[in-house]
Amino acid sequence: MKMEYSLVRSRRKTLSLEITSEGLIARAPLRMPKKEIDAFILSHADWIRKHELKLEKQQKAARSQGLLTDEEIRRLKREAKRVIPERVAYYAPKIGVSYGRISIRAQKTKWGSCSAEGNLNFNYLLMLAPPEVLDSVVVHELCHRKEMNHSPRFYAEVLRVFPEYKKHYRWLKDNGNVLHQRAGLRG
Ligand SMILES: [Zn+2]
Repeated sequence: MKMEYSLVRSRRKTLSLEITSEGLIARAPLRMPKKEIDAFILSHADWIRKHELKLEKQQKAARSQGLLTDEEIRRLKREAKRVIPERVAYYAPKIGVSYGRISIRAQKTKWGSCSAEGNLNFNYLLMLAPPEVLDSVVVHELCHRKEMNHSPRFYAEVLRVFPEYKKHYRWLKDNGNVLHQRAGLRG
């Protein structure tokens, strides 16, 4: 059995695999022998197949929910610029924090981020998630104004403000990729 993959070598210490819509990518240390990489991939055949199926399922769901047109993407970004600052303004006093600039971004992997200066970034695709999911991301980022980490103290604060946090934030883990697929992974 042989598997197709693209090999990316860099100054890293371990081998890692990633399933993308363009296929399997293996990231390997500079001098790891090709034989060793092939053997590793072969021994992870089940894992690879499982993740390929998951990706196919997500792509199918994205197609059935409809791929976003440029027009829809523009509309969602406009909506995000209006709605997200409102949610931030609602939660910031409850958490007791200030914040800086709010930017709406098209990011492939992140849903939100908070800089040390208190500038906030949010992914416009959140507008396609249930409102509670958007709120869970807003609360998460604002709580970073108190704790710049994911310590128990950070989560205690998140849960104080938004007790249903875990359930809603988890939605992104289960459905977030479908949203990215619907956007055609466009930047
Ligand atoms: Zn965080």
